Amino acid sequence: MIEGIPLPDTENPIDAAFWEGTRAGEVRIQQCGGCERLRFPARPVCPHCHSFEQRWKKMSGKGTIWSYTIPHPPLLPAFNEIAPYNVIIVELEEDPTIRLVGNLVASAGGAINEIDPTNIEIGTPVRAVFQKASEDVTMVRWEKV
Ligand SMILES: [Zn+2]
Repeated sequence: MIEGIPLPDTENPIDAAFWEGTRAGEVRIQQCGGCERLRFPARPVCPHCHSFEQRWKKMSGKGTIWSYTIPHPPLLPAFNEIAPYNVIIVELEEDPTIRLVGNLVASAGGAINEIDPTNIEIGTPVRAVFQKASEDVTMVRWEKV
């Protein structure tokens, strides 16, 4: 757990189901009830068919590193202390146009600065792991398969 980081509002009705999913150890992505396309981040109206109908679908938690970066200071104070660390973008197995930003860790409880950045490669298969950041917020992180 990283102390002092800004955390999301998990009670926002637009994406509360995403955070309910992470607390349950699942990646859930919003799916249109009209055209059935997945969309992320969540929003009230489908950008493809303009339907207001929607549901949440459990994903496999598998994906591939699409891109990554290594942030260095100046950063928010809580992140200054642990930099450099990695930030990866993962495209999901179910739909590569759905991409989540997260961190690559060595294991579910691992730190986001424990992976040597020279060992991160685009195209690497990863799976979701879950780290509790507060009583309400569980973060999705990723480990190599
Ligand atoms: Zn749609």
